[in-house]
Amino acid sequence: MSNGTVVKVLADLESVVNEVIAPNAIDVDVTGKFPRAALDALGKAGLLGLVSATEVGGLGMGHRAATLVVQRIARECASTAMIVAMHYAGAAVIEAANGPREVREAIAAGRHLTTLAFSEAGSRSNFWAPVSTAAGSNGAVTLNAKKSWATSANQADSYVWSSRPLGGSGASTIWLVPGNATGLQIPAPFNGLGLRGNNSSPVTATNVSIPRTAMLGPDGGGFDIMMGVVLPYFNLMNSATSVGIMESAVAKTAAHVKSTQLEHLGQTLADLPTIRAYIARMQIKTDMVKALLMDTLDALEQNRPDAMLRVLEIKAASGDTASEVTDIAMRVCGGAAFRKELGVERNFRDARAASIMAPTADVLFDFIGKAVCGMPLF
Ligand SMILES: Cc1cc2nc3c(=O)[nH]c(=O)nc-3n(C[C@H](O)[C@H](O)[C@H](O)COP(=O)(O)OP(=O)(O)OC[C@H]3O[C@@H](n4cnc5c(N)ncnc54)[C@H](O)[C@@H]3O)c2cc1C
Repeated sequence: MSNGTVVKVLADLESVVNEVIAPNAIDVDVTGKFPRAALDALGKAGLLGLVSATEVGGLGMGHRAATLVVQRIARECASTAMIVAMHYAGAAVIEAANGPREVREAIAAGRHLTTLAFSEAGSRSNFWAPVSTAAGSNGAVTLNAKKSWATSANQADSYVWSSRPLGGSGASTIWLVPGNATGLQIPAPFNGLGLRGNNSSPVTATNVSIPRTAMLGPDGGGFDIMMGVVLPYFNLMNSATSVGIMESAVAKTAAHVKSTQLEHLGQTLADLPTIRAYIARMQIKTDMVKALLMDTLDALEQNRPDAMLRVLEIKAASGDTASEVTDIAMRVCGGAAFRKELGVERNFRDARAASIMAPTADVLFDFIGKAVCGMPLF
């Protein structure tokens, strides 16, 4: 993929961001409304087919383009960014497993939104060990599950779904489950602290029947797909969301302090060295994560031996740093931070999700510690 192609993608994205995503961002947060108009516009611009192969009509791009697209969207609306991230992660699995051609073509054409349904009430954030079941007979498979979270629940055209294997060994099997399959239920709508409007609800499956051909990859091969395909995409794009949130918080905080007068001193907040030092810390932390994110992309593209370590590091680093940066934004903007109109309180709320989205920051610390000590991760 040439840099010119990524530049073209980002230029196409810019008009969708300015015409649809940014104008709807406040509504998505305040009302919790799913950003359907944004997804339609992204689909029309070909951007929902970003990671789909060119042979099915997609743009055939990879980690770098997906990361930069999600980062740009997150600067305006982190909820929309996370929906797009989950879509790209699911689409990458469908591509890697050579899923049904009509679904691949629909994704490429922007007519099909997908998502991941890995987390479960039973195994919680330990998504690599699902407890939900798949039972097969006569070419059909019956799924039963209590999925604890799925972004775009009730809105996605399909779920990239994990279960225990049909038979044999392996931790899991991945399925492509239609969003309208009989037996799927959303027990409660999403009314979250942050990332509002992205419909991250529980999804239950009661005797959901799908064909055996809906299997993505081999039976029992889910773990390899999760670690080999999903983890790099998800960690990069989750980090990109955190970076977008931090960039947004830094810009809003700087604008606020420059325009806020201390009339009795004839100064603005920006004239106070303490305030400027806080802003400097926000900028340094943001740039440190951005540099690590770009190095993770380089490591993957160059097949460097440290690529997997970087993939583990980047999500832990960016999630926790976004919480720190948005904490500082709340402090620096004072009382104004507590009002919706400034927008940093949304950054503060949205930033919280990254550290507890699986693989959670604490699980990543455990994995990274094991990797550094030369111990097996699992
Ligand atoms: C906005 C949002 C959108 C989401 N979208 C999706 C989605 O589209 N698809 C999907 O599959 N999931 C999704 N999730 C779920 C997410 O990936 C996590 O599974 C979920 O947030 C974890 O919540 P939990 O209560 O089950 O965590 P728990 O597993 O109960 O964790 C609680 C605490 O225990 C720690 N902990 C748990 N296990 C370990 C361990 N082995 N080692 C060390 N510490 C551990 C955790 O780090 C955490 O601090 C989403 C979550 C959010 C918040």
